[in-house]
Amino acid sequence: MKIGVLALQGAFIEHVKMLRQLDVTAAELRLPHQLEDLDGLIIPGGESTTIGKLATEYGLMTPLRKFARAKPTWGTCAGMIFLAKDIGIEEQPILGAMDIAVDRNAFGRQIDSFETDLKIAGLSPEPFHAVFIRAPVVTAVAQGVDVLARLDDGRIVAVRQGHLLATAFHPELTKDLRLHSLFCAIVQGTLA
Ligand code: GLN
Repeated sequence: MKIGVLALQGAFIEHVKMLRQLDVTAAELRLPHQLEDLDGLIIPGGESTTIGKLATEYGLMTPLRKFARAKPTWGTCAGMIFLAKDIGIEEQPILGAMDIAVDRNAFGRQIDSFETDLKIAGLSPEPFHAVFIRAPVVTAVAQGVDVLARLDDGRIVAVRQGHLLATAFHPELTKDLRLHSLFCAIVQGTLA
């Protein structure tokens, strides 16, 4: 099993390190042909406008759309925005792979970064310490999208749609490997 991490901008090194801690072969991805031998892909947090701009320049938009249609792909924070079908902004390049609507920078300036403990469906019951940095939230999900986690106020911050996973926070900035393990299980096909 080999998992790629889109390495155009943002927190990609941290994801690679987490995967390696799980003894998974991990590779940074910058060029379209590097998608060929991947079984799964992580799109990191960072700045979704920059990721979209660079992906367009590197000729990655069509290959990434094709990949995300067929193979396990996980977006964290900016990566979640990049995966979504609807972000309410026409001009920004996104993959549009996942049937969710997302509100960018949903927490505004006052509390643009915060940390909180979440209960995440599909993980062991211990709370997951989630780091939110200028994070988005999911404002709507289509049928077939499972909500995995919500904030106390009910806003959705983790979702799964079959082979696609999206989290509004940054699991790669903690020591908790459970979401990376969950994604590996999706890639291996050992999770229903
Ligand atoms: N606010 C960023 C965006 O709109 C996402 C922030 C992050 O990935 N930490 O892309």
